[in-house]
Amino acid sequence: MLEGALKVLKKFEEENYQAYIVGGFVRDYLLDIPAYDIDITTNCLPNEVERIFPNSFVQSEKYRTVTVSMDGYRYEVTTYRTDSKYKDHRHPDTKVTKTLKHDVKRRDFTINALCLDSDLNVIDYVEGLLDLKNKVIRTVGSPMRRINEDALRIFRAFRFASRLDFEIDVQTLNAIKLNVSLLKHISKERVRTELSKTFEEPYFEKVLPLMLEYDLFKEYPDLNEAAKVLNRSYHKVDIIEFATIASYLKGSVTEEVLLSKKEIKTINQTIDYIKAFENRYLSKKLLLDVDKKSIISALKIMSIFHNVIYTKEDIDGLLKDMPISSAKELDLDGNDVKKSLKLEDSPLIKKYLDAALDAVLGGLCQNKKAKLTKYLKGISIDE
Ligand code: ATP
Ligand code: MG
Repeated sequence: MLEGALKVLKKFEEENYQAYIVGGFVRDYLLDIPAYDIDITTNCLPNEVERIFPNSFVQSEKYRTVTVSMDGYRYEVTTYRTDSKYKDHRHPDTKVTKTLKHDVKRRDFTINALCLDSDLNVIDYVEGLLDLKNKVIRTVGSPMRRINEDALRIFRAFRFASRLDFEIDVQTLNAIKLNVSLLKHISKERVRTELSKTFEEPYFEKVLPLMLEYDLFKEYPDLNEAAKVLNRSYHKVDIIEFATIASYLKGSVTEEVLLSKKEIKTINQTIDYIKAFENRYLSKKLLLDVDKKSIISALKIMSIFHNVIYTKEDIDGLLKDMPISSAKELDLDGNDVKKSLKLEDSPLIKKYLDAALDAVLGGLCQNKKAKLTKYLKGISIDE
């Protein structure tokens, strides 16, 4: 990936443009940790970039980012720019600028503002190398101004702390403290992206108490409660499990994180399992069409709240004992019930089907059509 990027830089130079690798890749490269993408910054304008690299396409008009392919890898190439006049503490006006130095100065933290040239020389306008060496996360320029203009940087500072086990510089922390309320301006989508990355990082456990101390969830009361619980008994959770804890405590699905319909379903299912565990009664019905991920999450969350009641082995044992694993496997359908019990279309059919399902799960009747119809004929159900 790096070789391809150096070829891209050289190609720009052949065309008399400047181009550098910048941002996260340089940081991770110098720290000798794996990086997954390379950003390139250049004084070349997007339409020129497209001309020089015929296989490229404009990724973002507004931010002047072009995706360029080389040797099977993709690189995000952005024209030097400055960001100014932040609206809502988040959305900047962006302007093209002529120098690398200006581009570097708009970046969030010094460790994210280092560049590499095509000979792998480091270019450092912001003492990023020093901070990298001292393991410090510090804003580029005045912390008060930089945090205030874009509150997302608050979450980002903690994300890099969780990732790298770096300290956040004292003045940057101070600016964070004074600006946490601005986090209410961040879109739910961005909150989710930054937080979910933060949760997955290796040093999150160490950083969570600091996040609470600095009241990072001040504007997110549901998440705040979940963070406090998580902090008491630390387990690694993903953003969905975190949202599940928040939702469980709240009594309904939290709206503080952006969630898809499918994720909301998973969360509700996990909460059903948690409640069943708490009542020490996991009915077989709840285990129909079981979603393994939800049940494992429920176990994990149970051990965060209390002591574990069911272990994974218990669950596997219960699942092995199930006569059927899905309601769809019931050897009886609405038509069978209608015919054998001579019923018209009525809600009774559904009740009989439920009774048949209960009988199979409860071991009262085998899952065979003939046996089930016989069983149903022998019981009475009120309309
Ligand atoms: P990762 O490896 O997790 O992707 P990254 O440093 O590459 O980390 P990105 O979110 O991909 O982070 O951003 C790329 C670069 O853009 C950053 O290194 C930083 O220089 C700059 N940047 C990103 N977000 C901001 C921001 N909110 N304010 C200022 N600069 C930013
Ligand atoms: Mg990146």
